[in-house]
Amino acid sequence: MFHSSFIELNKAAYQQNISFLRSRFGPDVRFSAVIKGNAYGHGIENILPMAEELDIRHFSVFCADEALKALNARTADSEIMIMGMIDDAALEWAVEHDVSFYVFELERVKAAVEAAKKLRKPARMHIELETGMYRTGFNREELQEALDFISDERQHLTIEGLCTHFAGAESVTNYLRVKNQMKAYGKLHRMVDKSGIPYRMCHTACSAAALRYPKTRMDMVRIGIAQYGLWPNRETYLFDVVERNGDETSENPLRRVISWKSRVMSTKTVPPNRFIGYGTTYLTNHATDIATVPVGYTHGFSRNLSNLGRVLVNGRRVPVIGLVNMNMMMVDVTGIEGVEKGSEVIIIGEKGGIDMTVGSFSELTNMLNYETLARLPEKIPRYII
Ligand SMILES: *Cc1c(COP(=O)(O)O)cnc(C)c1O
Repeated sequence: MFHSSFIELNKAAYQQNISFLRSRFGPDVRFSAVIKGNAYGHGIENILPMAEELDIRHFSVFCADEALKALNARTADSEIMIMGMIDDAALEWAVEHDVSFYVFELERVKAAVEAAKKLRKPARMHIELETGMYRTGFNREELQEALDFISDERQHLTIEGLCTHFAGAESVTNYLRVKNQMKAYGKLHRMVDKSGIPYRMCHTACSAAALRYPKTRMDMVRIGIAQYGLWPNRETYLFDVVERNGDETSENPLRRVISWKSRVMSTKTVPPNRFIGYGTTYLTNHATDIATVPVGYTHGFSRNLSNLGRVLVNGRRVPVIGLVNMNMMMVDVTGIEGVEKGSEVIIIGEKGGIDMTVGSFSELTNMLNYETLARLPEKIPRYII
């Protein structure tokens, strides 16, 4: 009632995605649901309980504040893992609440051990290995140093995982790089084995790696985008089709969970030869029926979609005309019957067989699926249907 747009989350679609992905990966691979970026815009508090209902008991976040959110949303004894940022002050909190975290610097290992000693409770760490992405992770020398330290402090920590991340597993262009990363992982893995330090599991795969390089699945996969019903990119989808015997007509096994909707705020007929909205980016050629939609870049509808984006109004695909404003945009509804104040506008979603996909944003701008979703503000209300 108070918001100019809203998001619907389709629970049946989520269930279908999880069951498809599980059948792909097999029963021996643990499923960690990646819920960073406010669960890719879906809302941690919505997705986490849905996942728990499907017996998912492992969640991956980027930082401590997301971990806190996940802890508060928990209804079961799920594990929470921080894959990125946690500062020394938050380490104690993590140890106290059994939140595990990546370590990729000796400094963090030391700080974690300090926290563990203070609390008399072991810190749960995942050793991140540098395999060729060059973002974070221990290289050979750093790893040896860390293992020596860990060896001496073993009673204060548990090694939950040996992990890495691939630099673009969704694209065949990166094939060699990914293969080299797998080799590098193997080498560092053997170093840890030699040290005799026990660890619980090996995990390396994001959605694309898990789908395209089965060897990367190991003990656990970290699945983000695919659980929400989107392929990492078009190529990943096509590979999957090939794996299903090249049957391109078979239905896409993933279903989009999210829809994003609004309503027409106002309509107006504009004479020919008038500029629409700010500036001079759109000039009418003929009498034009416009509808204003109360969604703009503050709501995550990128300004890059000015004169480019499309939305569905009354089940018809209509173009955004003029610049996307902070809080609204104009669309051309000339010739579309029955458009009035209150008419439904679908920004992401499906109506009458026409689909506005998250991908359609991405093709028009340089934004990825990921970015479009992650930009959806937390304040837009989300309903589970
Ligand atoms: C985001 C992320 C994932 C999940 O990636 P998807 O492509 O969305 O499946 C996995 N691992 C790490 C380290 C990540 O940052």
